[in-house]
Amino acid sequence: MLKLTAYGAAQEVTGSKHMLETSHVRLLVDCGIFQGHREEAHRKNLELPFSPYSLYACINTHGHLDHCGAYPVLVKQGFSGDILSTPATRDIASLVLRDSARIQAYDARFLEKQEHRNHQPWRKIFAPLYDEADVEAALGQYVTTAYRRPYPIAPGVSATLYDAGHILGSAMARLEVQNDGEPLVIGFTGDLGRKNMPILRDPDPLPAVDYLVCESTYGDRLHDDMSLAESELAQVINDAASRGGRVIIPAFAVERTQELIFLLHHLHDAGRIPPIPVYVDSPMAVSATGIFRAHGECFDADICSGFLERAAGPFAFDSLHYISDPEESKKLNDLRMPCVIISASGMCEAGRIVHHLLHAVGDPRNTILIVGFMAANTLGRALADKRPEVKIFGQLHEVKARVKILNAFSAHADYREIGEFVSGLDHTRLKRVFLVHGEPAAQAHLREHLLGLGVRSVEILKQGETVALA
Ligand SMILES: [Zn+2]
Repeated sequence: MLKLTAYGAAQEVTGSKHMLETSHVRLLVDCGIFQGHREEAHRKNLELPFSPYSLYACINTHGHLDHCGAYPVLVKQGFSGDILSTPATRDIASLVLRDSARIQAYDARFLEKQEHRNHQPWRKIFAPLYDEADVEAALGQYVTTAYRRPYPIAPGVSATLYDAGHILGSAMARLEVQNDGEPLVIGFTGDLGRKNMPILRDPDPLPAVDYLVCESTYGDRLHDDMSLAESELAQVINDAASRGGRVIIPAFAVERTQELIFLLHHLHDAGRIPPIPVYVDSPMAVSATGIFRAHGECFDADICSGFLERAAGPFAFDSLHYISDPEESKKLNDLRMPCVIISASGMCEAGRIVHHLLHAVGDPRNTILIVGFMAANTLGRALADKRPEVKIFGQLHEVKARVKILNAFSAHADYREIGEFVSGLDHTRLKRVFLVHGEPAAQAHLREHLLGLGVRSVEILKQGETVALA
């Protein structure tokens, strides 16, 4: 008897943790961090609903925090087995986890000072979940394998990673389990990407599975076609340059920034944008781009053709400048010429992007370009909602700059793309599809869509619910 339990990302989009239990071993696919309300998230991240000692091994599908951010907690609490991923995922996870440990330490110090000022006692929920030493310990347990190479992860279980086309190194996991002599195959999509993205290959077709655990983030949404992104980006830059303004682009340091660099490189070489300077102003984005450079094995050879044979590769061209030094970053504020500034954090909550927005928001010549999801109650969302005034560093500022939104960028498949992926599976084998990693409305819509495509059984996994697979 096989058992599947969702311990996270069940009817929500954070904290991915899916346990598969055979008669002999327990495996955990992803160990992501829960995000949201501080007190509740802190409790859910620390109080694991299973013993870490009881796990034989883990699989990490990709390096986003909601899929890898709790491995240091797991290791700190006693897990000593392997964490299987692609080599690129291990490198992205090392960057993302170290950054997370630093942010947690910074937040803890800030909150401690604030509580001290307010004469409030220190509360446990402010303590970091882990520090950099815990991150190093978790990274020491990663073992890596290339795509499409079966790996013996546990007695009676072989794991093969397939390209998910979501972020660099992202994988779907296909587990072949000898179930009391009967072979059963379970597929996990992790986060499923899209076709025709810059840099990455399209998601691999997945060989036959009996059961599929499938993400559903955009189960009720359709994205604009990616082919629109390049021409819309060109238009925004040309318009701003003709007014003598700057284009400020808040972007996640991993993946979205490299996609933008890649598209800008294309537009620059084709002469479709003027030769104005492009600044990537984020130490983390600079580090992430270095990881991309080291993992050409993850690139789509067709999409990257023309770039790969050049020594500089896709992430360098003559008007592109990477900035790590804070003094160099500050100098950008004094520039009086058209330019493009790509900076983090992606939702404008912290980091250098906030300074760039402060200096850009009041000038109608400038454009703020939104290329990613903005969560509620963030500065990024206020800008995306086109509010007339936004709060920056506690002060209200009138938004005179233009705000443009490009909807084509998304690293997740929409419901039509998920439907195409599931339809491509061998339906003589596929018994049940379990939906995870989605809000209830998106999941309900995707369920109907998949049933309409002829999928036999589509179920929505609930937090902590165990289903038997036979
Ligand atoms: Zn992801």
